[in-house]
Amino acid sequence: MNENRYDIAIIGGGPAGCTLARLICHKYRTILIDPKTDEESSFKKPCGGLLSEDAQKALARFDLTLPKSVMVDPQIFAVRTIDLESGLIRHYQRFYINLDRHRFDLWLKGLIPEKADILTAKAEKITRDKDGFVIDCGEKKISAEFIVGADGANSVVRRTFFPKKHLRSYVAIQQKFRENNPNPFYSCIFDRATTDCCSWSISKDNVFIFGGAFPKDNCRGRFEEQKKKLEEKQGFCFGEPLKTEACTVLRPRGFKDFVCGGGNVLLIGEAAGFISPSSLEGFSYAFDSAILLAECFLKGAQNVEKRYRRASLGLRFKLFGKVLKCPFMYQPFLRKTVMKSGLMSIKEIKSG
Ligand SMILES: Cc1cc2nc3c(=O)[nH]c(=O)nc-3n(C[C@H](O)[C@H](O)[C@H](O)COP(=O)(O)OP(=O)(O)OC[C@H]3O[C@@H](n4cnc5c(N)ncnc54)[C@H](O)[C@@H]3O)c2cc1C
Repeated sequence: MNENRYDIAIIGGGPAGCTLARLICHKYRTILIDPKTDEESSFKKPCGGLLSEDAQKALARFDLTLPKSVMVDPQIFAVRTIDLESGLIRHYQRFYINLDRHRFDLWLKGLIPEKADILTAKAEKITRDKDGFVIDCGEKKISAEFIVGADGANSVVRRTFFPKKHLRSYVAIQQKFRENNPNPFYSCIFDRATTDCCSWSISKDNVFIFGGAFPKDNCRGRFEEQKKKLEEKQGFCFGEPLKTEACTVLRPRGFKDFVCGGGNVLLIGEAAGFISPSSLEGFSYAFDSAILLAECFLKGAQNVEKRYRRASLGLRFKLFGKVLKCPFMYQPFLRKTVMKSGLMSIKEIKSG
């Protein structure tokens, strides 16, 4: 047997790829390809690192509990929603777990049984040949019958095999600062003048993170403009940034923005466009799509694509529901009306 030949090659070891590898490796010869390591210089995905209730439920389905080592200080129960245009502020109860994103990814990777091979590398190029696919990972070449793209927003798998799919994308920019807020908080910020998406701030282990998703055109200028407004209008104190990071984030607009796959190439997680366009929450969809694809593979490799397309219909409808929710969050008049009404919000009690 060719030692570099696999039934299934999973490109990308984020929440989606690690979950799929864990679930299918006892039935298929599986390899997971991802460049992340525990070294300081390793690639670390820029992320808010908030585990939503739906994502917690996905982990609960595996009877998994979170080790304290992936959690950070403080834990939060509410989001301070700031509408910069109208000046309205409301607090809404949320049940997130505040995580260190990189440690969370490494923990998920550590759950993969030894039966699966893990290659610490980047898939540079993937080509189809008569026996399946060849993945060029620089020093190593891997061949496989099926390719699973779990490689996130900027997926090389999606760009190679579905080049006509142009999903709506933004540039997510995050900056880290030394925490100097006396009372750390989590906020979600809306400001139509700088972005038609949203921004956020959160504290993690004495580091204050401010980030947002911006249209590509002048994204850095928009980010800086929003920071200035937050300093002037909301009293945010940023100070000198310790680190600036950026990456692509997808924001589906409808069914045509989801790509399940075809021709022995399958996509899961954000690579498939599975991320909430209203909150940019992506962990739960990464877990859920990986579980659905695993269940399809475990029934047999034949017709797996057809089964996965059918099985993921509910997930795609759920995301479409988030598309319909967007105007209530992002259309200034509707948002103002909802915020003014105080519907679902928490009344703040000021002490002192
Ligand atoms: C700034 C920001 C903040 C966010 N905050 C949150 C949040 O708080 N909560 C939440 O639920 N979601 C959040 N999201 C969304 C969430 O990060 C993603 O939707 C989620 O991580 C998707 O998981 P995934 O496994 O599909 O892809 P990813 O987590 O993106 O993982 C993809 C993996 O593929 C690897 N990879 C990429 N290219 C290659 C290649 N060529 N070869 C090999 N490996 C490759 C990468 O190293 C990475 O490990 C945020 C997104 C951004 C950009």
